[in-house]
Amino acid sequence: MPKAVDANARIAPDAAVSVLPGVGPTAARRLEAAGIRTVLDLLTFFPRRCRPLRELAAPDETAVGELVRLSGKVHTVRSAWLPGRRSMTTVVFACADGSTFEAPFFNQPWLKKNYPVGQARRVEGVLAQKGRRFVVQQAKVLSLAAEPSGEVQLRYGEIEGIGAARLQQWLAHALAGLDVKGLALPPLPAGLREHDLAPGPLLLAMHRPPDVATHERARRHFAVREAVELFAAVERARRARSARSARSFPVDDALAARILARIPLQLTDDQATALRGIWGRLAGPAAMGALLQGDVGSGKTAVAIGAALAVLARGSAVAFLAPTELLAEQHHQNVARWLAGTGVAVVLHTASSKARLPTGPLLVFGTHALLTGDVALPGLGLVVVDEQHRFGVAQRMQLVQKGDNPHVLVMTATPIPRTLALVLFGDLDVLTLRKRPPGRRAVRAFHLPAEKWARTLRSIRRAIARGGRVFVVCPAVGEEGEKGGVVRVHESLQQHFKCGLVHGRLSTPERQRALALFREGITDVLVGTTVLEVGVDVPDATLIVVVAADRFGIATLHQLRGRVGRGTRRGLALLCGPRTERVAAVCRTTDGFELAEADLALRGSGELLGTAQSGFGELRALDPVDDLPLLLQVRAAVQDAAAEAQA
Ligand code: ADP
Ligand code: MG
Repeated sequence: MPKAVDANARIAPDAAVSVLPGVGPTAARRLEAAGIRTVLDLLTFFPRRCRPLRELAAPDETAVGELVRLSGKVHTVRSAWLPGRRSMTTVVFACADGSTFEAPFFNQPWLKKNYPVGQARRVEGVLAQKGRRFVVQQAKVLSLAAEPSGEVQLRYGEIEGIGAARLQQWLAHALAGLDVKGLALPPLPAGLREHDLAPGPLLLAMHRPPDVATHERARRHFAVREAVELFAAVERARRARSARSARSFPVDDALAARILARIPLQLTDDQATALRGIWGRLAGPAAMGALLQGDVGSGKTAVAIGAALAVLARGSAVAFLAPTELLAEQHHQNVARWLAGTGVAVVLHTASSKARLPTGPLLVFGTHALLTGDVALPGLGLVVVDEQHRFGVAQRMQLVQKGDNPHVLVMTATPIPRTLALVLFGDLDVLTLRKRPPGRRAVRAFHLPAEKWARTLRSIRRAIARGGRVFVVCPAVGEEGEKGGVVRVHESLQQHFKCGLVHGRLSTPERQRALALFREGITDVLVGTTVLEVGVDVPDATLIVVVAADRFGIATLHQLRGRVGRGTRRGLALLCGPRTERVAAVCRTTDGFELAEADLALRGSGELLGTAQSGFGELRALDPVDDLPLLLQVRAAVQDAAAEAQA
């Protein structure tokens, strides 16, 4: 039911979105799921991209990849069904000079009747070339009579269950009705005042820019604000940590010798240096905040356990957080063996297996469930967070609040370009493992087109014949028989090999069993989703096959190949599917840092870190990669302001 709107009533920025006409309870719920509760939240749901539009008389190779506007008459309309009950309708348009271009539309079979042959239309979208044909992607089709849209095209992110048209309608209403006077943004720190502009016009410039430059100026303003918040949080975390005294855990020579004797590995120089660095910090009066970074397979776990033992030796508890249950389970299993007979209670605490936590020297393995749950961890001396790229700054802080001011060690195998690390982990001291442990050679990757599946099978057979074991990773669980889905691939491989299956929808005991059978060599092949990505450690695994490798990101592919070649034999990765740039990059180099740079170059945005996981929270205007100079400027200003406040 339409609500009565008083044209003069101004909308307060903090009013709930439901004051906007057309936003009912369902829409409000969907918006809330996207983090939009208030009208201001909606107005700061910024477009992801603002691009200039090029008006073309005919499609033109020089404009490929750009946003264009073309006019043409409907020439033909084709419809085709795609697998999975999806459809594609292709409308071919002819320009005045006789050249043609097409616009594909997915899952709108009824469109056909909207395009009578011969009728003229204006089409806006991104120009692409498929062979000799020109294709306008993400096409927006207008009648010739319609006002052409502005000279820029904005692209918004998607909100599940909310169409673009409705979103625009609400935005228009909010922009028109907003009580700008009620919109007071906090002043920016000195040194950034040049960015401090009036918010009303800025919001308008974000959503209704007359040109790209105006939009970009406004975007930078909001980017600065996001960066200020980000660094303020980092700065708070850093200061809070160094201001709080933590229990000190000194490691004298005798204890050091005892700890090293417990670790069943001869530590490399890098590992030993990192461990001593950590021990030094654990002995100090302030809580440690350290980041241990090292490529996949560089041996971070042993360092973490060496750190944990220093704390356990003095009767305090240690929490070890992993990003997946599978990884927590596996760490638990391995480390329980290492610590057998020490009197330390080594327990697993996950959503599916909640152990009762004893007091005294306790090493508890878990996932983030440990953070969010109501678990009490009295006497917590150290928190280890494995594969930190999956946790954010906020979660890190939450954890620290849990115990009695614990020391924190975070570990990441995602090499992060130095500058970005500075932003993400600005509150931590960084320790690095550069060299791999002896015998751990880099795993090269090779590309195989999907149709060479027979060759893949031969490679699997050969690896098994040589006493190795094989991981096969697929993108999806694929219950509906999706080709390439893990269930299907498992079924087909079972005809040839002794095969296990692991994915997120199986129960913990089922997963544990599959993993144990694989580790013990009862099965030769383990098929799984990316739950296999991190940390799964089976020394005999020598081959990893990634099905539909084009569906994975560079960091994931690099992580995945780190699963093999952990024993004495060399590992190998086969990346199946189309040869994308990402796949090619992973085949080209084994250097994680080089790959991280390649990833940045290919993606060029905060996507690299996955915003929700990065600790950036929701970034709406800031691009942590492109905006690096701006970030550095903001960081300096925030630190100056904090120092001044203290003085
Ligand atoms: P990551 O840094 O990826 O977490 P892990 O800690 O899982 O790496 O170690 C990778 C593999 O290397 C494991 O199988 C581990 O047992 C082995 N490893 C670690 N340190 C050493 C070492 N100093 N000497 C020999 N093998 C080691
Ligand atoms: Mg690890």
